[in-house]
Formats: sequence, structure tokens, C-alpha cells
Amino acid sequence: MEITEKLKILGNAAKYDICASTATNKKHHISGGIGNTFQHTICHSFTPDGRCVNLLKVLMSNECQGDCFYCPSRSTMDIPRTSFTPEELSKLFIEFYKRNFVEGLFLSSGIKFNTSQTMEDMLKACEIIRYRYQYNGYIHMKILPNSPYSYVERACQLANRVSINAEVPSQEHMGKISKSKHWEKDILQRMDWIKNLSDKKDSKNISQSTQFIVGAASENDSSIIQSMNRLYKTYSLTRTYFSTFVPIKDTPLENQPAAEPTREGKLYQADFLLRIYKFKASDFVFNTNGNLPSDIDVKLAVSLNNLQNFPKEVNTCSYSELLKIPGIGPLTAQRIVTLRRNNIKIESLAQLKKIGAQIKNAQFFLTINGRLQGNITFLISKIELERERKHYKQLTLF
Ligand code: SF4
Repeated sequence: MEITEKLKILGNAAKYDICASTATNKKHHISGGIGNTFQHTICHSFTPDGRCVNLLKVLMSNECQGDCFYCPSRSTMDIPRTSFTPEELSKLFIEFYKRNFVEGLFLSSGIKFNTSQTMEDMLKACEIIRYRYQYNGYIHMKILPNSPYSYVERACQLANRVSINAEVPSQEHMGKISKSKHWEKDILQRMDWIKNLSDKKDSKNISQSTQFIVGAASENDSSIIQSMNRLYKTYSLTRTYFSTFVPIKDTPLENQPAAEPTREGKLYQADFLLRIYKFKASDFVFNTNGNLPSDIDVKLAVSLNNLQNFPKEVNTCSYSELLKIPGIGPLTAQRIVTLRRNNIKIESLAQLKKIGAQIKNAQFFLTINGRLQGNITFLISKIELERERKHYKQLTLF
């Protein structure tokens, strides 16, 4: 098979592995035109130091012995299968890099013959890239479930970031998407090894992330957030990514409904609130089905549930208290604190807006020099009214 054909298949198959919450929209297509990239092969991501880079995102192989009930690459699927050799993948990546198409590599894989052999191929490709081509840039490598320790260790030496997908919040949920994977033994054990390896004094600044599939195991947002919180604390993860479950024809979950598209975005919001805003997992508000409310901002819902903590005086409350106010993010909170240090007070909502606050919501949760800026009852009635409206259906006149 031609290398471009392999790239098309293995790049497309890698679309289920997430390394950023952004993607490029394809707006124009003129056959034979310039500026086209392979549809799912080059994606944006953020390196541990915060830079946005283009990554070549591919699988080593889409052949797989696995049985994951949702997966289009599972062993029973009748799809075109192919694999790169380590030589092919490393050469392809370096050619892309030299032509400025990409600035890094995101490498994942199906389990071709067995986990060890596939990991060996992935490691070999990364070794060629690092040592033969002397590439010093960014590599994100997936660790396959049940990988042996020595391969996990080698991956930590070669890559800048490694990740193993949690997929679901617990072993109980794992039973709903795979018969062969064990959540604790095959996945959490590897996360633990990675954490211990990265804690070692001589380790090369390795970061670890993970990914959940939202809606495949009938889990709710509450269980994902509890699990994510535990993984952050136990294994010092840097990031969590989410991908929305969509049923694939001819898989065991083909008749299961797709997850609500809003869930993924809400979970990213919850993730930010946990990591950056230092919310606790117990702070979040859930519907009766255990999901985050879909019709209201996640942070706003938490604040409305804790009205006893508001209003906050914007000129005296701490940085962490500022972060709890809806409409105030880390940058704005930092600006307020810096102004304070220079003896400059916030005097108006307009001034707050100017330094980045979203006053539409913030005004109801703060005071400026002791003056209330909005009536919280008005905000609550407005939200309730909008909810009621959604329950009424417009009747036709005829
Ligand atoms: S291990 Fe499971 S999720 Fe991964 S490619 Fe194979 S079937 Fe798909």
C-alpha cells in the first residue's frame, strides 16, 4: 500500500484520540488546490509550556485484537487495515517536520498482534526520530493498556507527554465497554508507574494526560468528575480530554444513543474549574440524572447553589475568592490584584469590564466599594423564566 494511502487510513483512525479541544474547520475544497492537509491527520495541540503547535496525529496501526464495544477499529470490524513500519513512520514525520507542516508528533495505535509488539514498534519509531534524525521537539505517545513496565519506562524517556486513556470512571463501567480490559490493573497501574517515573529526580520533565469517552458506558457527569478528580490527585495528571460517544454501525453499541453533544463542553468547563479555579469535585451541581445542567454555565450554577458566599467585595477579597465569582477568570483576577498592589481601586462595572470581566454574570455576585451591583433575585427569575419557556412549545396558528 502507498504511504499516502496508509497515512489517510491511519490519520483518519486517530481522530478518536484527542490531544486538544480545538480543530480546524475545512471551509473550501478545490480539487487539486493548495493548502489542503489530510482531513484528520494534522491537529492543533498545546505543549506543556503552553505553546500551540501543529501535530501529526496518527496510529502506528489500525489492526487491533481489542474488543472495545464502541470502537470502529475493534477486531471484528470489516474495514481497510494497515500499519506503518517504524522506518516508514519516522521518515514520514521528519519529512513533514522539515517542510514545516507539523511541529510535533502524537502517536497512538491499535493492538496489532499483541501489546508488547505494538509498543515495540511505536518505541522504535520514536527512537529513530530522536536518535537517527536528532529531533528534539514534542512527542506525545499513547501507552497501550497492559503495557509492560520496561516499555512504559522507555516511552517516558523518549516522549514529552505520555497518556493512557481512562475511558470510563471505574471498573464497573469498564465492563460495559470491554470484556478484556481491566480498569485498575491495565490502566491505573500504568498511570501509577508513569507518575513514579516522572517523580524520579533524573526524569526528563514528562507530563501525563488521559481521556474519557463520554456516554459510552451509561456513566453520568458526576461519576466522570469524581473519577477525574481522583486521577488528578493520585497520578498528578496534567490534562483530561473528552470525546463524545457516537454509535458506530456494526459495533455492539450501534443501537445505544449518542451522548448529548453539550456534555463534552460542560465537562471541559468542569475540568478547568477543578484545575485552574481550584473548585472541589463536591462543589458541582448536577441534575437528577447526575449530569451537569445543560442550560446554564457550570460556574454560574455552582455560585447560585452557594449564595451564602456572595457578594464578594471586589476590592478586598482574595485572589481565590475572585476566581469563584462567575465572569471573573484567572487573568482578570490577577489584574485586579495587581491594581490593588499599585493602590488602584475598582470603581465601576465599566472598569471591571475593561480589564476582562464578563459583567453580565459577575455584577450579581460582587460589590464595588460596598455597593451592590445587581439584584440576584432578578438573575434567578430570568433563568427560571428561560427554563419555563423551553418547556412550552409554540403552537401553530392553523
Ligand atoms: S484497544 Fe480497543 S479502543 Fe483501542 S483500537 Fe483496539 S478496540 Fe479500539
